[in-house]
Amino acid sequence: MEKFFDIVIIGSGPGGYVAAIRASQLGFSVAIVEREELGGVCLNWGCIPTKALLHYAEIIRLIKHSNECGITTGNIIPNLGAMIDQSRRVAAKLSNGIKNLMKKHNIEVLNGEGKLLNEQNILVKQFKSENNITQTIIKAKSIIIATGARAIRLDHIPIDHKNILNYKDALALREIPKNLLIIGGGVMGVEFATLYSALGSYVTIVEAMPRILMNEDQEIVNILEKDFINSGIKILTNMELISINSDDPFNIMATIRNSQDGKNIKLHFDKVLSLVGLVPNTEDIGLENTAVKCDKKGFIIVNDDFSTNQPNIYAIGDVIGAPMLAHKASHEGVICVEKIAGICSHETKVSKNSIPSCIYSTPQIASVGLSEEKAKELGISVKVGRFSGIANGKAVAIGEEKNSMVKLIFDTKTGELIGAHMVGSNVTEMIYGLNLLKKIEGTEEDIIQTIFPHPTLSEMIHEASLAANERTLHI
Ligand SMILES: Cc1cc2nc3c(=O)[nH]c(=O)nc-3n(C[C@H](O)[C@H](O)[C@H](O)COP(=O)(O)OP(=O)(O)OC[C@H]3O[C@@H](n4cnc5c(N)ncnc54)[C@H](O)[C@@H]3O)c2cc1C
Repeated sequence: MEKFFDIVIIGSGPGGYVAAIRASQLGFSVAIVEREELGGVCLNWGCIPTKALLHYAEIIRLIKHSNECGITTGNIIPNLGAMIDQSRRVAAKLSNGIKNLMKKHNIEVLNGEGKLLNEQNILVKQFKSENNITQTIIKAKSIIIATGARAIRLDHIPIDHKNILNYKDALALREIPKNLLIIGGGVMGVEFATLYSALGSYVTIVEAMPRILMNEDQEIVNILEKDFINSGIKILTNMELISINSDDPFNIMATIRNSQDGKNIKLHFDKVLSLVGLVPNTEDIGLENTAVKCDKKGFIIVNDDFSTNQPNIYAIGDVIGAPMLAHKASHEGVICVEKIAGICSHETKVSKNSIPSCIYSTPQIASVGLSEEKAKELGISVKVGRFSGIANGKAVAIGEEKNSMVKLIFDTKTGELIGAHMVGSNVTEMIYGLNLLKKIEGTEEDIIQTIFPHPTLSEMIHEASLAANERTLHI
């Protein structure tokens, strides 16, 4: 018997599963189609396992520095296999949590590959074993595509999953590489550099752009770069990987070109990790059977309400493009479903300026809104306030003063906060407060008049607002 649902969602990542829950709350009958584990890349191979591993790396770093606190420890022997096993247990626990949430909300989960047959029918193929493939057709009034993205494959970086790795391989390694080349100095690049450097690998990052983390404020990134260099991470910017020779698996030779003088250098590694970007999962999902259109890179083109060219088909999350972040995908899922229900209370268009960015490197980086450079480019007259951890009691107490800074950007005319940029310990936990303030169009004066708890790193926010008005108290 053919099954019919109000909403069918393809993909159960943070976009898809959150959309499913909201749809169920609003009284829709909902099914979600997932070909792998529930929770998508985020829970299984992205946000969660990386943060578990980065937490273990942070423990190593703290132990290494424990002498400074009067604590003598012995040799640190990281067991990468055991760490990976623990990170897999964490991912499995959370994926199982999604299974329970689906049950609680009466959401039908179809384990299989979904393909659009037309604007209403979806074919679900379930691979039970090599010779046992079942096919079911389900019908939906509305369809949400949340199929996410995967690592890009480039011809000159032949991923073999042993020595030349993608992010998934790097989350399943059992031996610590001695000499690791990371291609790409974006968010993933600096997070994996933090992880493997803490484990004892010699890490080199190759980045084609003039600096790593091009989307973050330069001053903030400079602080991270200094710390990376001090901890032995090599950063090669304006450098492009030309080829990899992996004939000898213990001695991979990478040819890297300096884009400024055109000269090539050859460097040797035992593992290469490619983090050069992601491509959307839009092939093989039957888009050709509908009016849904993609851009040149394959991302689905959507309107502000996430509808596609086919009015009852919507798309959310990584499959519609950058910034590729779990919280963006979830937020879009909620708005999309509320839009379908006709009760959307949010602004429909999600402004990129209101999506916080968090980087779990050591030190961490967090930001929201415009950078100083971008605001000036847009012709906005800005007032900038900075405060360094050197004069923050908590940062000094925990030995993080050299790594910490808050930089706030205010609109000179209105005093409104238009950008916030932070580097240091736990700043990823602090950025939401500034995003909330930005959302309610809060000003420098609102921050100045707020009582911040002492001693906290958050006091740097207060001081940065005072600094914008040449009123700092502790410098
Ligand atoms: C290493 C790494 C670290 C990351 N860290 C962070 C972080 O700290 N914070 C953050 O915000 N973001 C992080 N991200 C990004 C984050 O994982 C993604 O932005 C997020 O998962 C996107 O959610 P989504 O729902 O759009 O898609 P996904 O999570 O990619 O889920 C899509 C799902 O669709 C399924 N699917 C695809 N095609 C089909 C089909 N035809 N039929 C059935 N199912 C299908 C896939 O199996 C997958 O489960 C990280 C990513 C990586 C790779």
